[in-house]
Amino acid sequence: MRGLMMEFPLTIPAMVRRAASLFPDKSVVTRRPDRSLDRRTLGNVIERSHRLAVALHDLGIGRSDRVATLAWTTHQHLEAYLAIPSMGAVLHTLNLRLHPDDLVHIMNDAEDRVVLVDESLLPLFEKVRPRLTTPTQVIVMRPPGAAVPAAGATGDAATLDYETLLAAAEPGRFAEVTLDETEAAAMCYTSGTTGMPKGVLYSHRAIALHTMAEGMVECLGLSRDDVVLPIVPMFHVNAWGLPFACTLFGCGQVLPGPHLDPKSVAELLAGERVTVTAGVPTVWLGLLQELDANPGKYDLSALRCLAIGGSAAPLAMIRGYEERHGIHVLHAWGMTETTPIGTVGRMPGELQSASREEQLRYRARQGTPLPFIEVRARGEQGLAPWDGTTLGELEIRGAWVAERYYRGAERDSRFTDDGWFRTGDVVRIMPGGCIEIADRSKDLVKSGGEWISSV
Ligand code: AMP
Repeated sequence: MRGLMMEFPLTIPAMVRRAASLFPDKSVVTRRPDRSLDRRTLGNVIERSHRLAVALHDLGIGRSDRVATLAWTTHQHLEAYLAIPSMGAVLHTLNLRLHPDDLVHIMNDAEDRVVLVDESLLPLFEKVRPRLTTPTQVIVMRPPGAAVPAAGATGDAATLDYETLLAAAEPGRFAEVTLDETEAAAMCYTSGTTGMPKGVLYSHRAIALHTMAEGMVECLGLSRDDVVLPIVPMFHVNAWGLPFACTLFGCGQVLPGPHLDPKSVAELLAGERVTVTAGVPTVWLGLLQELDANPGKYDLSALRCLAIGGSAAPLAMIRGYEERHGIHVLHAWGMTETTPIGTVGRMPGELQSASREEQLRYRARQGTPLPFIEVRARGEQGLAPWDGTTLGELEIRGAWVAERYYRGAERDSRFTDDGWFRTGDVVRIMPGGCIEIADRSKDLVKSGGEWISSV
């Protein structure tokens, strides 16, 4: 029997509607390039996202068109996160740490119709722009109030200014489109395997369910009482989905702009009374050194969770945060293909009475799968038992795991015949379902959260 419940699509516009009606006064703080702080409300960000949608519509952007961003973590980038999927277009975040050759390949593959570029990143974009094969409208994002060069910063009169466009757009003209939850909302490219970067398309439904999972106690336990500082950038797998989660749950947002050095991060964490933050181990190693070198300088008493992922969190670092600074660490594992969080290392209650060393060893593992995510490991003898010793390649399936790559009409070798995704991570699985990464079958290494060919 079907049809007994309302069909209520799990979409990003539904998240934005909730935020607009329940959380318009929540704060969004952005560190500008000149280090000053921009303070505004989520309601203002949403209104500006409506203006952006109207402006993009007037530029001819419609359903499933790709709109790229080349930008740091700012309120303008958040506006793009909310506006673009709400119009049925696809938010394509470009990783500004990639080589210009890769960016050219990625933008040509995605056929981006518009790109929103931070003014500070124009020198990088100018290396890409002459080689684009799709006519791409360039919109430059400058901090509100900043001077706009007469002929566009690139000397090209066709380059538009973001703030000028928003000022001219009438937010009342914003009309939500009716979306199917399986439509694409966003896309990222992954270079986590050999060969050219491949696109992963995220559906509205996948993002909505991933967002709900992030809110669970099992994961980050987010609520309207939290203030979240994503150090993982908005150009890296949707900042682990935090911009969407903060919008849905009404968290205050602190957006660090280009300033990701340990001192700037520590100042923001203390000054804005941040409760939850997330980033890769390299960043957290730097912060730990800053805290160790300056005892008592930063009041981080509001911080209840420091999430680490993207590479293995060293046990010594977890110990350092917890034992020297009283900061709780949460270790998570994920991939571009998994939206990204797949497993989380929250310690089960049974381990409360275990030794401190045993607890830390558990927490330094990659954790157990979130609900609606399933894992298994395939060794040389077939599927590996969950015995904590047998090694195998981690395979994963679930509600926010990619089914194929963009333009990949057929499943490629990364997918098994029965529909699981082959991660390339070699793991052992503990009897309780906790995974521990032992190795990687990929011929790449990661530095600061980004892949580098080991060759
Ligand atoms: P990416 O698609 O760039 O996010 O990279 C995903 C890969 O990063 C995974 O397949 C792992 O190899 C690695 N990775 C992510 N999180 C962790 C973690 N917590 N521990 C160890 N490796 C990780």
